[in-house]
Amino acid sequence: MVVEVVALKIGILAVQGDFEAHAAMLQQLGAQTTEVRTPADLEGCAGLILPGGESTTQLKFLKEEGLADKIVKFAERGGAIFGTCAGAILLAKDVQHPKQDSLKLMDMTVIRNAYGRQIASDVVSGPTSLKKEPLEMVFIRGPVIERAGPDVKVLAEYAGKPALVQRENLMAATFHPELTDDTTVHEYFLSLANSRAKQRANGVKSSK
Ligand code: GLN
Repeated sequence: MVVEVVALKIGILAVQGDFEAHAAMLQQLGAQTTEVRTPADLEGCAGLILPGGESTTQLKFLKEEGLADKIVKFAERGGAIFGTCAGAILLAKDVQHPKQDSLKLMDMTVIRNAYGRQIASDVVSGPTSLKKEPLEMVFIRGPVIERAGPDVKVLAEYAGKPALVQRENLMAATFHPELTDDTTVHEYFLSLANSRAKQRANGVKSSK
């Protein structure tokens, strides 16, 4: 897999939050990474990571810099996007507690800071379709996915709620896969970005 994805360039939104941990993990897997702060930074990227942080601050930045529209177009062209925690909130169609605007790319309802005190910030594990063993998940004041639309695939769960989901070229996690030693989720994202980039190169129209 590392050989296959070696030429892939992945942009990481670098406004605030833990973008450096994503970059380290992706580089370890053989991808090239670039920090994204302007629409031009997205040029040539096969994928984009929207990292954790504070979604209200991030959304304000995306709108002010013209990045919000650019990211929506990137997704519509079939570019792979992976939102973790605050990034998942940005991708969700419907954001509650409090109600907040978003990029509305993923058909799901998220409730911010809704796991309650005990696991508001904790390391837990839950079942995943990506491997046999349970997946380790680091939660840091993460949102709960209260509703996932019919086309949204659940790839991992915690406490009976979807924790990692995918819809075509888009992925969202309510936890922080970049903060463990397990590279499973990032490998999956890179293979998604790789296959979508190949489809675009072959002129296959994305259905997203
Ligand atoms: N609580 C943050 C928000 O609502 C998300 C936390 C995180 O990304 N670790 O934006």
